[in-house]
Amino acid sequence: MHYLFEAEEHAAIRQTMRRFAQAQIAPNSAEWEEAEEFPLELYKAACDAGIVGVGYPEAVGGQGGDLSHIIVASDEMVIAGRSVGVVVGLGSHGIALPPIIRFGTPDQQARFVKPCLAEGKIAALAVTEPGGGSDVANLATRAVRDGDAYVVTGAKTFITSGTRADFVTCAVRTGGAGHGGISLLVIEKGTPGFTVSKKLRKTGWWASDTAELHFDGCRVPVANRIGPEHGAFPMIMMNFAAERLMLAGQCVAIAELAYRESIAYARERQAFGKPLTGFQVTRHKLADMASRIAAARALTGEAVVRVLKPGGDLQAAGLAAMAKNVGTDMCSFVCDQAVQIHGGYGYMRETLVERLYRDARLYPIGGGTREIMNEVIAKTEGY
Ligand SMILES: Cc1cc2nc3c(=O)[nH]c(=O)nc-3n(C[C@H](O)[C@H](O)[C@H](O)COP(=O)(O)OP(=O)(O)OC[C@H]3O[C@@H](n4cnc5c(N)ncnc54)[C@H](O)[C@@H]3O)c2cc1C
Repeated sequence: MHYLFEAEEHAAIRQTMRRFAQAQIAPNSAEWEEAEEFPLELYKAACDAGIVGVGYPEAVGGQGGDLSHIIVASDEMVIAGRSVGVVVGLGSHGIALPPIIRFGTPDQQARFVKPCLAEGKIAALAVTEPGGGSDVANLATRAVRDGDAYVVTGAKTFITSGTRADFVTCAVRTGGAGHGGISLLVIEKGTPGFTVSKKLRKTGWWASDTAELHFDGCRVPVANRIGPEHGAFPMIMMNFAAERLMLAGQCVAIAELAYRESIAYARERQAFGKPLTGFQVTRHKLADMASRIAAARALTGEAVVRVLKPGGDLQAAGLAAMAKNVGTDMCSFVCDQAVQIHGGYGYMRETLVERLYRDARLYPIGGGTREIMNEVIAKTEGY
């Protein structure tokens, strides 16, 4: 089943994605996940195949389209590529570039956006800090103005593509306490004082790299500031809303893949002289999985359509938070059931659903936790 909003151009994107993912990712997915990385050349190959720029304006090097195209592209890439780690690693520009596209100068777009969408440069978003990720308004990384530069001191952690990124879109404190003192700076690899820790080891998403970044008196040109000084908090929140819808979409894709694997296994595996699908309890497990996937897909699709409508920005935060929590809960349930249907094989590293089960654990945490989503919903609902 596809999203109800899908039109002809979405079908074309699915076809391109499927072709790329089946040829370039799927044959290597298990190996790259175990190796905890994928080749750097894949970024360029993805650009050449025209898939990195899906959903971004042609004026900045993209293929055109919107969030609905991004979600469909990632759905197909997860299902056909069978590596969530590769999809989120290849896709880190999806959270790093939008503030530059929306609020950056033409010069910033030429220097940072085009090279990512068209040439395979790598971008990451750095908001979370070792001292805390949920309380964004109180982030501590300091940027002090000194002539035509900011001097940045602090640290960021859990940054997707952090070790490989050519630049990071980084949230820093340029002003006083709270949300009114935050700015976004693009900090480039190789800037003196900017160092990257070794890759962090994680429960899932193995093929993607995740890193801690350190800034020690790092001079960043004022020309790299995105939008007004101290004005980044609303940009970060807007970016979060789109990210959360993308994460909800990933939950739908991961669950769909786990569901398909489970049907295939249940048809083939025999117990007590019949296939697992011969037991009503297995069929009901699969039916529950299918129903919850359909419900999460419907909500995610509806949220995307509403957000893309004129004025949809105003509803985005609450809808995205709802879609993310519903997607997250659904994905955790479906992957757990998928492991159960696979029995002992479901617990083995050679089995795809074992990996998907671990990948699924990220979603109630990353991009804003399940608890913070409920805070957002309570606020937007007005209680
Ligand atoms: C694999 C991975 C990739 C990531 N990629 C990125 C990235 O690319 N860029 C980036 O900036 N960040 C990234 N993150 C960070 C992620 O967004 C944060 O982990 C997340 O926002 C939570 O922050 P925290 O880990 O500091 O938890 P904390 O903020 O310390 O929260 C700990 C617990 O307390 C709860 N809690 C906190 N405040 C409240 C409250 N007010 N009410 C109720 N409960 C509360 C939380 O829900 C959570 O359960 C990534 C994380 C992971 C694991």
